[in-house]
Amino acid sequence: MDNMLTCENIRRTYKVGQTTLDVLKGVSLEVNEGETLAIMGDSGSGKSTLLHVLGGLDRPVDGSVSFRNQNVYRMSPAKLAKFRGENVGYVFQSFHLLPELDIVENVALPAMAQGSAKAAKERARELLTEVGLAERIGHRPQELSGGERQRVAIARSLINEPDLIFADEPTGNLDSGTGEKVLNYLFQLIEARRHTLVLVTHSKEVASRCSRELFLKDGILI
Ligand code: ADP
Ligand code: MG
Repeated sequence: MDNMLTCENIRRTYKVGQTTLDVLKGVSLEVNEGETLAIMGDSGSGKSTLLHVLGGLDRPVDGSVSFRNQNVYRMSPAKLAKFRGENVGYVFQSFHLLPELDIVENVALPAMAQGSAKAAKERARELLTEVGLAERIGHRPQELSGGERQRVAIARSLINEPDLIFADEPTGNLDSGTGEKVLNYLFQLIEARRHTLVLVTHSKEVASRCSRELFLKDGILI
């Protein structure tokens, strides 16, 4: 299996007043092309921190992250932003949708920089249809339920056809039935397009849907 993403010896600390919190104490892992990887761990174990480091959103204190042999944190800020826009999609626990935009505009937004707005919106409508929201086109996020909002966020993460999707507790704010439905859409879309997924969760049940599971404990992966 070909390697897509490698991180080596990642350290990330937070300074809080006088004390330094060692959250990641040397995390190394490889993500293969096309796999779905779950990173599990208790609340506060550093899952979100690790996902942000892997996704090019948070520079580690030490260690390296490479995407297809390109060192992510050696890129210039402009190149890093371009890299993220083209290669990476994100789904967050709290959806992160913009309330002043309707759901088509929310989904199309990451593609607006790349080309025609008309084409981006057309593609957004297609993706919204694929996540079962054809009837809600034109609505704003606040008119939708939590599960529907997360389906909008999933559509948005796929708009630029990124090879790699990061999901941080994507069902953490949803009841279990709704969460399962959202995961069905996520995995359906990812498997159909052969995207690679890195998902962090504290839930065994959610993690079990992935092809491989790792566990983050005391700042290292086991
Ligand atoms: P998880 O996602 O597994 O719940 P996080 O990565 O969010 O864990 O946080 C790991 C630890 O780092 C927690 O103890 C949290 O309080 C701490 N932490 C996270 N972000 C910050 C920050 N910006 N400043 C200080 N401490 C932080
Ligand atoms: Mg978290």
